[in-house]
Amino acid sequence: MPARKAAVALPPIPPGTVADLPPLTRKQKEKALETLRLEIEESCAPYFNDVCTRVVFGEGDPDAALMFVGEGPGAEEDKTGRPFVGRSGQLLDKMIAAIGLKREDVYIGNVVKLRAADWDPSGAGGMGRLQDRPPNPEEVARGLPLLHRQIEIIRPKVIVTLGAPAVKYLTGTTEGVTKIRGTWLNYRGIPVMPTYHPSFVLRAYTEENRRKVWSDLKEAIKRIKS
Ligand code: URA
Repeated sequence: MPARKAAVALPPIPPGTVADLPPLTRKQKEKALETLRLEIEESCAPYFNDVCTRVVFGEGDPDAALMFVGEGPGAEEDKTGRPFVGRSGQLLDKMIAAIGLKREDVYIGNVVKLRAADWDPSGAGGMGRLQDRPPNPEEVARGLPLLHRQIEIIRPKVIVTLGAPAVKYLTGTTEGVTKIRGTWLNYRGIPVMPTYHPSFVLRAYTEENRRKVWSDLKEAIKRIKS
């Protein structure tokens, strides 16, 4: 019988609330993020290949009140080194504009920092093609502690998670996103609003889904202002 691969345990959520960490000025946050970025680039270098060519660290205001968290970069993000710049990124930009903000006013990050994709030999004309896939447990286990550290530096007032994987990995919830979107969860004292991933909204572009995302974002802004 072939040996069963041991399941990879997710790294635990660090203890304590983020607000209890020693305070950081904007300048200190900028410096800490830059140090973390260099560290991640060095530690991820062994994983670079034809599919995944660079780290997609995250971007935005280091002192943002609102942080968006997605699952992980795709082809466009790998090409540019920036999060959410493909089709779903364009929709995310519209979502951010709809709540009266600009991309530079928020922080956008991902659970994993490297593109996950496999070669699919059944591509058009037998030529094969690269197919993005969800990050595997090892990839998530490598990426998640980096996201924890990013959040500890940025310390947003509210986190909006995009799609089921982001909220699952960040809060440990096992509930589906359809059930929990629009309800408040918690990450170490930071309120978390789960909503649909823009790529889901693009696939199921109904007025109802757009209205739900809009309502989730309005709740997030209301909480920031409260
Ligand atoms: N989807 C994600 O979850 N993150 C990105 O950066 C792009 C697409």
